[in-house]
Amino acid sequence: MDLKELYQEIILDHGKNPRNKKRCKGFNKQAEGHNPLCGDKVHIFLKLNKEKKVEDISFEGEGCAISIASASIMTETIKGKEFNVAKKILENFLNMLKDGSKLKINSLSEDQNTTMKSLSGVKQFPMRVKCATLAWHTFMHAAEEKKQKANTEKAD
Ligand code: ZN
Repeated sequence: MDLKELYQEIILDHGKNPRNKKRCKGFNKQAEGHNPLCGDKVHIFLKLNKEKKVEDISFEGEGCAISIASASIMTETIKGKEFNVAKKILENFLNMLKDGSKLKINSLSEDQNTTMKSLSGVKQFPMRVKCATLAWHTFMHAAEEKKQKANTEKAD
């Protein structure tokens, strides 16, 4: 199996069997996000503890396979991480989709790295980039308690 096939398989798997797709217990932050160009909607539930660690994170939503897979991958990758680390992972992910930068995060396992990289292919499709980044932007909205919905068509 070549890398491209492996990446497709990972996205398909997360799209079909999304991880953490529920309302997690005891969440203390939440935000909604919308990608009007594709119709993707996501609602992030975040439990950030006193030590600023992501104790739990989950999502609900509906949308294309990429948006669901990306939300699933995001929650799986960020769960259990310090908020500062989570922020770095997010920045790395956005850069990877923007200009193809390599991921530079020490705290990820090889599996997690591969899983995140599986979404790198959407870089060639600007419309799909919005599907892939929606949940990640919405996570930041939840963490920063922004009142407005995350919207891929409005600058933050
Ligand atoms: Zn989409």
